[in-house]
Amino acid sequence: MRAEEICTHYSEDPSRFAGAVTPPIFQSSLFTECEGNEGDREGRYAYTRVSNPTTEIVENKVAALEQGEAAKCFSSGMGAISAAMMHYLKKDSHVVAVASIYGPAHRFLAEYMKRFGVEVTFVKGTDTEEIEGAIRENTDLIYLESPSTYLFLVQDLSKIAEIAKRHHAATVIDNTYCTPIFQKPLTFGIDMVVHSASKYLGGHSDIIGGVVIGRKEEIDQIAQSERELFGAVMSPFDSWLMLRGIRTLPVRMKQHMVNAMEMAAYFQELPVVKEVIYPWWETHPQYELAKKQMTGASGLMSVVFDLPGEQIKRIVRELEFFHRGPSWGGFESLISPVGADLEQDNETMKKGLVRLHIGLEGADLLKEDFERAVKNVLG
Ligand SMILES: *Cc1c(COP(=O)(O)O)cnc(C)c1O
Repeated sequence: MRAEEICTHYSEDPSRFAGAVTPPIFQSSLFTECEGNEGDREGRYAYTRVSNPTTEIVENKVAALEQGEAAKCFSSGMGAISAAMMHYLKKDSHVVAVASIYGPAHRFLAEYMKRFGVEVTFVKGTDTEEIEGAIRENTDLIYLESPSTYLFLVQDLSKIAEIAKRHHAATVIDNTYCTPIFQKPLTFGIDMVVHSASKYLGGHSDIIGGVVIGRKEEIDQIAQSERELFGAVMSPFDSWLMLRGIRTLPVRMKQHMVNAMEMAAYFQELPVVKEVIYPWWETHPQYELAKKQMTGASGLMSVVFDLPGEQIKRIVRELEFFHRGPSWGGFESLISPVGADLEQDNETMKKGLVRLHIGLEGADLLKEDFERAVKNVLG
């Protein structure tokens, strides 16, 4: 099934809801037994922490988009990530994780899970031999995020899935950057996919949400233990907003990429720019690998400026349409001069690096904005 069909019609049945093309928000905490809502756990609604008809429609769509058997929504990306990790980890487990993963996911593994004796080895992720070398007897999980979101380092998904199977370790990937429109990790043998729906899946910067996708048996276990017991379930209203966002996911992602490619070409020619870091750009050191496992890239990129930090920050403050702030994945362009004050490059950051989210304003407007800001600061 094509993504467009999944996003518009799949798992929808207007005849259930008086012909409404948009399903209702089932804003109900509990569901009583009645004709049509009977039986055991499967197929019966009882309580929204366990299942909800609005949320279920989104879950079916995301599972189909990722070519997974099942999906469950959470109240945040971190709710989904911590549930997926807890599913695979036990006391004294060992984890191999990519060093450049989302900050709180890094902290969850490196700091919080310490209290259960969980140990983690962080790897760069670009070298599969380094990953295999880090695996121990008690390695239960290999945790990936490809591409990562500052340096856009890419991991070889099919090779890592093969290594993990050989060593009886599970693989989980954060696929928030690509969305299933540009990358389907399960088709490369990865066991489980997690997303922050607060980014592109929601797409309008109005929800905090997460989702876990994988084999039905494992997703059911997560629903009955990590989600039901920790309780980080998505609200019906957020599910409805996420559903609304997903309707336009394919067109939005296409346009983010078109705009990002235009901006990359613009930055490439800008004399004060030292490097454009975008996985779909020819100069990216892993461009070939990216092409092998992705079908495009989103609106997030980094640009390394060859300017003193003070001047970088002045240019950033001069911009009108790039708002300063974290996060990404919505309609709006954002900028974050995360590497401006750095003295020198390190493993996860470069000196002079500015991260940009290229929104849906149109590349011409965004180029003019930069042109003006650079001129105002540098003359
Ligand atoms: C934002 C983000 C998360 C966390 O999602 P929340 O919804 O904020 O909890 C996880 N991974 C990546 C790559 C993110 O950008």
